[in-house]
Amino acid sequence: MTHYDLHCHSTASDGALSPEHLVERAVQQGVDVLALTDHDGTEGIVAATRAAAGSPLTLIPGVEISVSWYGSTIHIVGLNIDITNTELQSGLATLREYRQQRAEEIARRLAKSGIADALEGASQYASKTMLGRMHFAQFLMEKGYAADTKDVFKRFLVRGKPGYVPGQWTDLSSAVEWITGAGGQAVIAHPLRYKITATKLRRLIEDFKAVGGQAIEVSSGQQHPDQLRNIAALAKRYDLLASCGSDFHSPEQRWTELGRFLPLPASCTPVWSLWQ
Ligand code: AMP
Ligand code: MN
Ligand code: MN
Ligand code: MN
Repeated sequence: MTHYDLHCHSTASDGALSPEHLVERAVQQGVDVLALTDHDGTEGIVAATRAAAGSPLTLIPGVEISVSWYGSTIHIVGLNIDITNTELQSGLATLREYRQQRAEEIARRLAKSGIADALEGASQYASKTMLGRMHFAQFLMEKGYAADTKDVFKRFLVRGKPGYVPGQWTDLSSAVEWITGAGGQAVIAHPLRYKITATKLRRLIEDFKAVGGQAIEVSSGQQHPDQLRNIAALAKRYDLLASCGSDFHSPEQRWTELGRFLPLPASCTPVWSLWQ
């Protein structure tokens, strides 16, 4: 059976592996079809596609777009997108500019709590185009402020902590339009990771459908079978296609691996049914 992993990150956003090494590892892990879905950019797609061309793996061009929705940050994955689409690319460029401003603000706030030079420090871990909280996490760990990523986020980078800046990303309808306008499918990423109530999640799904969203990530890394069943039921109820992906970032994060997540239940219609 073809093994799909439709969510992962490279050094083009906050992943640890280059697109080439990511493709190599995916092949080793038995993945047949891999979507590279870096945050707010597609810089890694060309290199990943080139690497896949010399391997048994099929590379799907993707992206993970940051969205602000009623005070929450929501991630919308775009699959099978045309990365030359100009509206998509100009939208993503505005998000990366915002990332730069937010990074400056994060650094100012960290400086106020006694941590100097965080912008320069974080930038050393980032590509030229995309600066994220993971890069600040790496800097803070390097300086000995925390031992691992989970710890550093909890102590410095989430709501109520010194380096937290509330996100001001794009809106749900723009993200879905950029993706569908570029010929792709919009997918609600990791739906149970948003710390929103079940009622609010249903409202998110309704809003997402109303603006043309088609799919939801039913299976992602580190998920309990009960959670999988819950999302599969939502997918069925709202007539959404199902996606799956590891959200792999780094070999050092031992709790995730490329291709490793529960299989989609038989009740689901996979998003790739549109690709055949
Ligand atoms: P950003 O889009 O720059 O705000 O960063 C979001 C990214 O930070 C996510 O995609 C994860 O890679 C990482 N992240 C967020 N929260 C945590 C956490 N609690 N532990 C580890 N990584 C996290
Ligand atoms: Mn990330
Ligand atoms: Mn995400
Ligand atoms: Mn992700």
